[in-house]
Amino acid sequence: MISVEEALEAVLRQARVLPAVEASAGAALGRTLAEDVASDVDSPPWDKALVDGYAVRAADVASGDAVLSVLEEVTAGKTPTREVSASHCTRIMTGAPLPSGADAVVLVERTEMLSDHRVRIRTTAKPGQNVLQRAASMQRGQAVLRRGQTIRAIEMGVLAEVGRTHVHVVRPARVAILVTGDELVSAQHAPTGAHIRNSNGPMLAALITEAGAEAIPLGIARDDEDDLREKIERGLEADVLVISGGVSAGVVDLVPKSLVASGVQQVFHHVNLKPGKPLWFGATARALAFGLPGNPVSTLVCFGLFVKPALARLQGQAVHAAGRLATLAHDFEQRDARPTYFPAVQSFDGDQTTVAPLPWRGSADLHALVAANCLAFFPGGEQVYRAGERVAVFPL
Ligand code: AMP
Ligand code: MG
Repeated sequence: MISVEEALEAVLRQARVLPAVEASAGAALGRTLAEDVASDVDSPPWDKALVDGYAVRAADVASGDAVLSVLEEVTAGKTPTREVSASHCTRIMTGAPLPSGADAVVLVERTEMLSDHRVRIRTTAKPGQNVLQRAASMQRGQAVLRRGQTIRAIEMGVLAEVGRTHVHVVRPARVAILVTGDELVSAQHAPTGAHIRNSNGPMLAALITEAGAEAIPLGIARDDEDDLREKIERGLEADVLVISGGVSAGVVDLVPKSLVASGVQQVFHHVNLKPGKPLWFGATARALAFGLPGNPVSTLVCFGLFVKPALARLQGQAVHAAGRLATLAHDFEQRDARPTYFPAVQSFDGDQTTVAPLPWRGSADLHALVAANCLAFFPGGEQVYRAGERVAVFPL
């Protein structure tokens, strides 16, 4: 049985970055830039006042107590009309262009209005003080964003600053979701007899949306080869097909067989991990296919360990697979031979991060994870981990 690391490597080997599309800037949040973006303007476009005050010639206020004549008042959005000559100044507001002749702005708090359009300046100024020089932030033609960057709120602002209403980004992955099982009914139905509600479908749709991809629910497939084949073939038109259930050793675990019959080449089946051991993975020339074990926590863990990194790679984003270290809050008894991801609560106290595994009834107990904010990792093999030991944690 292959390890989690080997399985992830095999998944990522099959995942190639998706092609670029032109998106409106408003739809680009979270996407990966597929082009360098150059500025079409100098920013600021002119020497710009950074405070409310008076635009002066620094030489005129060198004494620290000067009286100057006020030529005009310039607010943001207005253009100065007068050149500042010796012993003169211009009342100026934050964001307005510095008038020619002036080389500094003094704070209004350091001044006193006199009669006859005169002002007393009770401070000195260095040339350039309280002024942002033209193009100091960025120059016209300069590449201000680079291909490969993730577009965050900051980059959304920069795109607007340089006038980009459209931008080339890596397109979001289209991810088909197929849940399987004769026992499943959808959430709006009250289960009777041996039925349960389908919780994996909505959970997977949410996980896919959180990963910045497009979720395409295909409904519930029955444990029947014809139904599976038909829905699998539809799902393989997406970039990724995620199936839950039907990959274990039960008599109706028909998913691997149906995937192979639909032309998917198996890459691996079974990974040395708990929960999630029956995980199946394969690929066609254009799609990846994951068969996740149906127990909800197995589905969740396998998604986080394998599907999420694959989506990151497809969407041109960095893959973060390593956990962080935290200090165990209480003793934990690992009884399983398999490496285990255990629901836990991580708390931050100053520079100390502690982690407390939760009471948990195993991979069918999704409800226990409502209280969790991470999975704590314990290597395989019976061992008691003591309070104070360092363990790896993966945020949920
Ligand atoms: P399977 O992997 O198909 O053997 O399913 C393992 C367990 O997970 C069984 O108890 C199933 O009833 C349960 N299960 C499978 N699919 C879902 C689902 N979509 N939602 C909730 N539980 C499920
Ligand atoms: Mg099943």
